Amino acid sequence: MSATPTEDEPRADCVHCGEPTEYPASRKGVTLCPVCEWHEAQRTACSG
Ligand SMILES: [Zn+2]
Repeated sequence: MSATPTEDEPRADCVHCGEPTEYPASRKGVTLCPVCEWHEAQRTACSG
């Protein structure tokens, strides 16, 4: 029997668009969905 607790854990909502993220709800701080995370990465890459 292999339990997968991460599968049962509720996902946090993206702070930008409200879509479920890959992060658990217990995660501290800002949580972004893969799409918004990608956009943030692009912005960060372009600024500076
Ligand atoms: Zn999002």
